[in-house]
Amino acid sequence: MAKILVYSEEPDVALQLVNAASKAEEAQISVALLGAGDLKEISKKLSVSKVASVFQIQNEALKDFGPEAVTDALEQISLESKPDFILIGGTKRGKEVAPRLAVRLKLGCVTDAQNLRFENGQTTADRVVWGGNAISTVSTKSGAVITIAPRANEKAVGSSQPEIKTIDLQRKTRTGKVVGKKPKDSGEVNMKDAEAVVSAGRGFKKKEDLTILNDLASTLHAVIGASRPLTSDLGWMPESRQVGLSGTTVKPKLYVAVGISGQIQHLTGMRDSKLIVAINSDKNAPIFQECDYGIVGDLYQVVPALTKALKSKTGR
Ligand SMILES: Cc1cc2nc3c(=O)[nH]c(=O)nc-3n(C[C@H](O)[C@H](O)[C@H](O)COP(=O)(O)OP(=O)(O)OC[C@H]3O[C@@H](n4cnc5c(N)ncnc54)[C@H](O)[C@@H]3O)c2cc1C
Repeated sequence: MAKILVYSEEPDVALQLVNAASKAEEAQISVALLGAGDLKEISKKLSVSKVASVFQIQNEALKDFGPEAVTDALEQISLESKPDFILIGGTKRGKEVAPRLAVRLKLGCVTDAQNLRFENGQTTADRVVWGGNAISTVSTKSGAVITIAPRANEKAVGSSQPEIKTIDLQRKTRTGKVVGKKPKDSGEVNMKDAEAVVSAGRGFKKKEDLTILNDLASTLHAVIGASRPLTSDLGWMPESRQVGLSGTTVKPKLYVAVGISGQIQHLTGMRDSKLIVAINSDKNAPIFQECDYGIVGDLYQVVPALTKALKSKTGR
């Protein structure tokens, strides 16, 4: 029976990890819950089917989920619960913590694991490598820290009555001091959680033309994203809007690619969208191999026509 400990500072991601862990036959799943405030409500939320125990550490040092304090806490929980595998949500914070924890516990570390399988006391996972051009398959015997990207799995559901174990944090390392916080630019949007994304590519001839997407995006309640040429190269949009390998990975219900050719570095960031629509004037553009619906045509004609048709259908 594999003993699996899961942790993410984001409760929804922790639930996705529980779902990934529950694919192991007869897994014994524990959840690590850390924070500075009252943990009761989150503990209830995490008490889903198959969760046998919740290890809680409440301490002011965990207020900002700084990697040093979180690593100390997870090390303590791991020494107590002795898991075979530790799954960590691949958030920014999670990616800071996983390698630190692996070094502390003298374990291997597999990052960005996809399609995780548990077989005969070992795990096997796929990892996208070489800029999205290849998949490597990695196997690890028990004793590994593994990160899994947010939203790679559905959230676990159901309920359980796990044993709640409360531990006092013993600090081993010094924590960096937060000297200030700055809100994000107001132009920034939450791309990764968007339900619909309309993205612009190099098919747009000039920056001013991007305004034709505003109407389509608002009709679809979508946020506007972009391919890399429009962000890093031309600076028409902030880099926070970039979808792809070196940008954000999105997984919306609807993704509309407008004037985007569909290079692998872009596809890596959006191919898990539920429904993909592509608009491109080149019928041989690679994006048409990836989409559910493809419109071959000039975006300057297709986008206004599509927006008009959607408006008359939805009344928005
Ligand atoms: C290490 C690395 C990381 C990268 N990371 C990213 C990343 O995160 N995200 C990303 O997007 N790219 C990334 N890239 C760049 C990537 O390789 C491609 O260059 C980029 O995705 C191409 O963007 P595009 O499709 O908008 O432009 P293009 O490839 O130039 O495609 C433009 C498309 O618009 C179509 N078009 C032209 N005019 C019209 C019209 N009037 N109507 C309709 N269609 C029209 C054309 O047929 C064409 O298919 C990365 C590259 C590297 C090397």
